[in-house]
Amino acid sequence: MIMVASFNCLPRSLDYNRLQSIKVLPSMRFHTTGKITDGFHVAGSAAVPVYVVNGETPILFDAGFTALQHHYIAHIRKILDKRPPAFLFITHAHFDHVGAAGYLKSQWPDMKIMASSQCRDILERPGALSVISELNRQGINSLRTWGVTGASEAPFIPVDIDLVVAPDTTLRVAPDLSVNTIHTPGHTRDFNSYWIPERRILIASEAVGCDDGTGGIQTEFLVDYDAYIEGLHRLKALRPEVLCPGHRLVVTGSDVDDYFQRALSSTLHFFKTVTRILGEEHGEVEPTIERIKTLTWDNRPLPKQPEQAYILNTRQRVMTIKSRISGPASGRIE
Ligand SMILES: [Zn+2]
Repeated sequence: MIMVASFNCLPRSLDYNRLQSIKVLPSMRFHTTGKITDGFHVAGSAAVPVYVVNGETPILFDAGFTALQHHYIAHIRKILDKRPPAFLFITHAHFDHVGAAGYLKSQWPDMKIMASSQCRDILERPGALSVISELNRQGINSLRTWGVTGASEAPFIPVDIDLVVAPDTTLRVAPDLSVNTIHTPGHTRDFNSYWIPERRILIASEAVGCDDGTGGIQTEFLVDYDAYIEGLHRLKALRPEVLCPGHRLVVTGSDVDDYFQRALSSTLHFFKTVTRILGEEHGEVEPTIERIKTLTWDNRPLPKQPEQAYILNTRQRVMTIKSRISGPASGRIE
């Protein structure tokens, strides 16, 4: 049964910085699984992670690849010393963020799965479920090329969202721990970022892009360039101490601000590059995708985004730019 969670509403303008004592972490970039800071861990795979917040009420964020289910479950059990997680927060309904959710639920049936209403709706559509299932099946091959052993060949199983989390609401999960939901709809329309003010941890995932494996950032505005830029500014203003972008990387301390600056500049650079190539290709999307792929994906080191997922993603980004440069906001980019 779907329930709509009723939480304390927080105004957009609430300044957490005045409420929190600032704990300064060293500037670091983590590309591995394991402990990031006290009570915060990357489980299963750095490339396709499940994030674990340990404490009185353990919480998980995102559910990775179906094929990595055993890796996640074993690692989470170890981190939590066999205590069950109480919540799993999903950022968005892409295959590599919900892949093992059904298996995590089967291990911990009392765990509540949380997501936006749009995410819940997508996960009820047969067409979306078959794309998620197929991309997770292809994910097994990606894991092989990355040298990952012990991948499961079990199929994706559909996942029910237990509780819908509305934008700008806060769930207090323990006296000293809350999760603030921030709707950031630039990557996908269903996207929620999650902010833990007491620990200054931000699960932003692809709302702030992805490490591209070469030290750069792959920008991720699939559906809305302007909402993506707005989301970057909004999340940057929180001044996180721990930032989790989409895949392969966790950033801490003053490197967080540097990451946000680079995310903003790489977004603008990608926009300009695609605009130029679209012009050279007379507005044709497919040859533009091919040239962008040659420039930004072909020579990336492993582990990297699977080819089919990269092409789907880039087609959406190119289409978003194409409609924006011919639309009413065409004169303004920032
Ligand atoms: Zn995504």
